[in-house]
Amino acid sequence: MNLETRSVKIENPDESIYRNYLGGRGLGAYYLFRELAPKIDPLGPENKIILATSVITGIPIAGMSRCSIVAKSPLTGSFGEAEAGGFFGAELKAAGFDALIAEGHSKTPVYLFMHGGEVEFKDASAIWGMTTKEAQTEIRKQLNDRLVRTASIGIAGENLVRYACVLNDLKFAYGRGGLGAVMGSKRLKAVAVRGDKKPESKDPEAIQRIAKWMAAHWKESPGTLSRNKYGTADTIMSMDRLGIMPTRNFQGGSFVNAEKVSGETMAATILSRTDGCYACPVRCKREVSPPDPYKTDQDYGGPEYETIVAFGPLCDMGDLGAISKANELCDAYGLDTISTGSVIAFAMECYENGILTNRDTDGIEVRFGSAGTILQLIDLIAHRRGIGNLLAEGVKRASERIGNGSSRFALHSKGKELAMHDPRGKVGLGLGYAVSPSGADHVQAAHDQAFAGPTRFMEMLGVTAGVDPRNLGPEKVRIFLYAHLWWGLLDCLGGCKFVFQPHGAGVLTPHDLVEMVNAATGWETSLWSLMKASERALNVARAFNVREGFTPSDDTLPERLFEEIQFGRSKGAKMDKEQFQRALRLYYEMMGWDRGTGVPTTAKLHELDLGWVDQQINAS
Ligand code: SF4
Repeated sequence: MNLETRSVKIENPDESIYRNYLGGRGLGAYYLFRELAPKIDPLGPENKIILATSVITGIPIAGMSRCSIVAKSPLTGSFGEAEAGGFFGAELKAAGFDALIAEGHSKTPVYLFMHGGEVEFKDASAIWGMTTKEAQTEIRKQLNDRLVRTASIGIAGENLVRYACVLNDLKFAYGRGGLGAVMGSKRLKAVAVRGDKKPESKDPEAIQRIAKWMAAHWKESPGTLSRNKYGTADTIMSMDRLGIMPTRNFQGGSFVNAEKVSGETMAATILSRTDGCYACPVRCKREVSPPDPYKTDQDYGGPEYETIVAFGPLCDMGDLGAISKANELCDAYGLDTISTGSVIAFAMECYENGILTNRDTDGIEVRFGSAGTILQLIDLIAHRRGIGNLLAEGVKRASERIGNGSSRFALHSKGKELAMHDPRGKVGLGLGYAVSPSGADHVQAAHDQAFAGPTRFMEMLGVTAGVDPRNLGPEKVRIFLYAHLWWGLLDCLGGCKFVFQPHGAGVLTPHDLVEMVNAATGWETSLWSLMKASERALNVARAFNVREGFTPSDDTLPERLFEEIQFGRSKGAKMDKEQFQRALRLYYEMMGWDRGTGVPTTAKLHELDLGWVDQQINAS
């Protein structure tokens, strides 16, 4: 749909497109590569934003609720991608659409209402400037339907903060890469969806059988059960015990107040309700009610693991109430909590080293440990006021402007701030940060601890022996690659990585996923064919970056990760730079990419039926 001309064109892609790309990341990469001219401004009218479900989104099985947003990222300039669960994806399908592509810049604020196979452009002038909750409330009022689902931005997206996010139903965040700023640049405040079309499947009995199995068995998985009890913050204590809890901007690996911010403490103190995604019994989402002075609106949900660590240990702050408030503010303003916490920790380290002073911060003492400073900075960033205007650019651009050695404290890959996992204790994750087409991303592959030993799940993928989490030798590169393609497949199909875990009982397996796809579509596909679709999507995303001018020098990690962890139980641990470089080149070769340039080879692209991509990146 063109936001400038207010015109809509409905396409019915050939079945081969669905078979080859499946949905989500795959469909997004396909359209982004085809439809974007190289080197366009991510915040200009030529960028397109794609919301995509998959061929199985909406089937009533736990974990199949996720929807992808894809666009050129204003944070990294690369392929940009974010996924979120909740109910939006299933509702979009019920409204009669698999995906939408929004292009152009609207002259005035607008929101889209998609229902019954139709799209309406609605005036959003009155809701521009509102928080995500105010906007959702007003949209539901205007449409006279409280069951409308929204994916909306807050003022951070309107103000083009480079890591602004998009929120489903206030608390399910398409967090990373600044895709909220792309919506903001288009003056697209929200997409509202409402449908009554039942999910179609060719074999409903098979779908029901898997759904019933999951409902009966999910509690047998200790990981899933723990997530139900304590949310994603259930791993705070184990990360801390391992000594790889990102603390004080990744200076240390253990946090003295870890217990105070753990999932267990949340459950015992401020937890008010649990919540979950479409058709999922696990209900790992939290709602919280901390006491004054950090009272929050529980509709914004409670902080997840990433958010807790980003505002807690990373900023050396141990107050769960203040972290909940920071989470609420980010959800209301539409800010990615990972990048926001990282940029604040970066500013704190700059300040404590005299690189930023009170003159730069309008007198704010930007010191580690200060809850008040964190909350104040979130507000300034979202409004792009004072020091917030600089920090709204992300750590890479901010450090380039500040200079004076500040890049040492800017922890990112391709300009995207590191997530809250330290590769110095799980080195395969470091490879994932570096090669992710969208910049440092912790959901590129299952983390190393998950395949330290053999598991039934990994055996299904052809891996019969585990590898130590700190080993980045060829055997780890191979396992990483398989896990990378598997998790990429989940991003194509909209699957939740918590219900398809590579370890433990009571979780869905690769075989279940194949059965779901066949039952939903009537195809006779195989795990091999689905993994190839994931590989295809990854190669298109890589080719997109190649066309943008990215090179192996962008597949890198911040220098701090090659230095020793300064304190905590893993004190002294570091990544080996030479080993990392060898692993990177081996990964290229295993992927069928040129060892020197990292460009997908003509042979690999043709093997994946991507001759049309080859013509654009290997033509000369
Ligand atoms: S496990 Fe949690 S995140 Fe995954 S689908 Fe269920 S409720 Fe959503």
